[in-house]
Amino acid sequence: MAEKKKFQAIKGTRDLLPPETELWNRVEQTAREVFGTFGFGEIRPPIFEPTELFARAVGADTDVVSKEMYSFEDHPPEIAKPRLMGDYDGYVLVVNNLMASGAVPKTKENLRAIAQFEIFWRVFSESHTDVDSLLKAAYYAREIQLGPEVALRPEATASVCRAYIEHGMHALPQPVKLYYTGPMFRRERPQKGRYRQFYQIGAEVLEMVPPNQDPAKNIGKDAAVDAEVIEMVMAFFARLGLEGVKLEINSIGDRECRPKYVELLRAELLKVKDKLGPDSQRRIETNPLRVLDSKLESEQGIIAGLPKIADHLCANCAEQYAEVKRQLGMRGVAYAENSRLVRGLDYYMRTTFEITARGLGSQNAVCGGGRYDGLVELLGGPPTKGIGFAIGEDRLILSLQEAEKGGTAQGRDVFVAWMGEKAQATAIAAAQKLRAAGFRVELPPVEQKFGKALGQADKLGARYALILGDDEIATGQWTVKTLADGSQAKMSEAEFLEFLGKSKPLSS
Ligand code: ATP
Ligand code: MG
Repeated sequence: MAEKKKFQAIKGTRDLLPPETELWNRVEQTAREVFGTFGFGEIRPPIFEPTELFARAVGADTDVVSKEMYSFEDHPPEIAKPRLMGDYDGYVLVVNNLMASGAVPKTKENLRAIAQFEIFWRVFSESHTDVDSLLKAAYYAREIQLGPEVALRPEATASVCRAYIEHGMHALPQPVKLYYTGPMFRRERPQKGRYRQFYQIGAEVLEMVPPNQDPAKNIGKDAAVDAEVIEMVMAFFARLGLEGVKLEINSIGDRECRPKYVELLRAELLKVKDKLGPDSQRRIETNPLRVLDSKLESEQGIIAGLPKIADHLCANCAEQYAEVKRQLGMRGVAYAENSRLVRGLDYYMRTTFEITARGLGSQNAVCGGGRYDGLVELLGGPPTKGIGFAIGEDRLILSLQEAEKGGTAQGRDVFVAWMGEKAQATAIAAAQKLRAAGFRVELPPVEQKFGKALGQADKLGARYALILGDDEIATGQWTVKTLADGSQAKMSEAEFLEFLGKSKPLSS
């Protein structure tokens, strides 16, 4: 008999279960409603894409791409790497055929690997004892790339930009406003609010820049778009009743002014290098902006004394930043400025923002966003402006739950307690009508003594129990028990429906 094995969800992933999933649905439904009122439509990109897309868009030097991506070699369904070394001969034969039909890429590297394999395999087959040649042949067989590298998406902005280009969305009325919800994957150290499969709700506004447009001319317009996107997230959080919401904003300049600021920052950092930790010391060379992001206690004093980017913005960036703030004010959106709020990637520019919420400990960022003019172009599309954000849905839910302190029970509007064959027919018909009207109904599959049925109704958090026995069927007068106060009343079917109609279904 096969050994009994207990399977468990992989570390960093989890099952979302009722009643919690009800909150997830409410959150996603609210996002659809609120984003819809701002003219956003939904995009559902695939969960996996070429690794290269993320490497380009997110940046090959970022942790997300260099360490955290779930990436794998895709291969045609006709073939997979064999387990036994002895099978490599047949395997390479199939690869050769698939290459001829184009199913396996005919790259220089693959041709070389096959040629090397054949040399060592021949030596091995002639001797049958030359293990060294067998190992070398196996090595080259494994080198053959059967298909492209693909990755589970670590974020969705890259996919949205890819889709914008692929579907020629620059030809649609601009800007194109899209939102998405769904799982993202990063190989991180799991902890509260940090998972390997987590969920984001995000939105992007993309707008092709017409040829010859003077970028300085649209500063006011861009600022209004930025402010409206931020207003939308804040409206969403307000609708959900999220507590302790704090919005921080910053401008990180553009290609014009940021490089100069980065040099200044680097020079200042070099002066205090020995007081910094190893991560920050390394970043002085690779990405000085990220030092501002440091959470290391011992570095906080030093960072506070560093030059602030707000004091080094070029005229256009300064004008846009001032206008974003004015626009947020007009929209009644409260914010705090945080000159240390940066994004490490080159294509991010000007407006950046982050939103934190209560009850999340150190992983308290529920939303990050910013402007990324130029990303679409970097991915092979036309010059395009972009601004967007991504909300961490897991953290959003945690914060909402923290505030509610476990108050969500799924509940039922009506528990139908029935006994007897005739009563069952009536019970089924009543359940059908009630469900069609949107009420949550529990209909036991077999009859139960009324005492037991009422106990179960209570456990399920039902509001009313509809009691159907011989009496009720004979008289047409149903018994309705209100579980909150135990009161009981007799009413006809029509009266019961009217009575319920006055109270809203739980589900709405
Ligand atoms: P953090 O600094 O918390 O790692 P980040 O800068 O990596 O965040 P973004 O890539 O900007 O995050 O993603 C936007 C949001 O997605 C974050 O603000 C956070 O709420 C959420 N998020 C990111 N990574 C995870 C994760 N591993 N698990 C759960 N939520 C996450
Ligand atoms: Mg992160």
